[in-house]
Amino acid sequence: MTQSMRLTVLVENTAFGRHVWGEHGLAFWIEAGPKRILFDTGQTPDVLVHNAEFLGIDLASADGVVLSHGHYDHTGGLEEVLRRTGSIPLFLHPGAVARRFSRKKDGSVHEIGAPQTLDEPFLKARRSSLVWTRESRAITDELRVTGQVPRRTDFEDPGGDFYLDRGCDTPDPIVDDQAVYFDTPEGTVVLLGCGHAGVVNTLYHVQELTGGRPLHAVIGGMHLVAASDARLDRTVEALRELKVEIIAPLHCTGPRAQALLAFEFPDRWKPCHVGSSFEFPGGFGGSADGRGHR
Ligand SMILES: [Zn+2]
Ligand SMILES: [Zn+2]
Repeated sequence: MTQSMRLTVLVENTAFGRHVWGEHGLAFWIEAGPKRILFDTGQTPDVLVHNAEFLGIDLASADGVVLSHGHYDHTGGLEEVLRRTGSIPLFLHPGAVARRFSRKKDGSVHEIGAPQTLDEPFLKARRSSLVWTRESRAITDELRVTGQVPRRTDFEDPGGDFYLDRGCDTPDPIVDDQAVYFDTPEGTVVLLGCGHAGVVNTLYHVQELTGGRPLHAVIGGMHLVAASDARLDRTVEALRELKVEIIAPLHCTGPRAQALLAFEFPDRWKPCHVGSSFEFPGGFGGSADGRGHR
């Protein structure tokens, strides 16, 4: 038996709907059959809560939260959500709790991790509900998370000047970056957080995890905002080869990459903002551990 899947963009950089707000951040509300999953939590609790209210989404009904990675713009609403839901599973890669930094072009260094949220007391208090996702695993019967994404392509990198220390001595490969995915009759739908692992690396990994199923859609942050022309060209080439039918870039994809993807894939590129929603027939239709997926 398969269940229908419905995605709503809850937090995103751009907002088109009436009353909803945009901010630099990302959150998806996923209705996976009878289950409700929040994938990322935006940058601020205010925007997450406000948009949820105007989109008719009850955050307290979430059955679980998945974090794509430990950056402030994906984790800022976490505490507020958990305050409303009580104890529900929180799926995250162990690397998501690291302190991390970004160096801007002017040399200034900014802390961009989620230590204010994912600090020691928080992790200790919620030890029993944390689900570590170094490997791929089931979130619900229908939905899975990739776990750590192997870096295979020679043209993708984390997409910025990222470090694990304030002195900028240890580069941050953002090993915790992960995507969620589910099956539909037309192929796999992949949701990206920031895409620091590389959109193409992530799609290759999902294809491997699903036994080579076709890729139906990729929706989410592709972190191409600072990408070179060569990287953009190779990304387009790979998306064409992978025959992804729906391409809906969000958040940190960047205007140049958005324009290029819209131009190169006029029938496949979909504009996407706060309030955009997608519905797919689907689900792995199998057991809770995902063994039923094709
Ligand atoms: Zn990020
Ligand atoms: Zn981001």
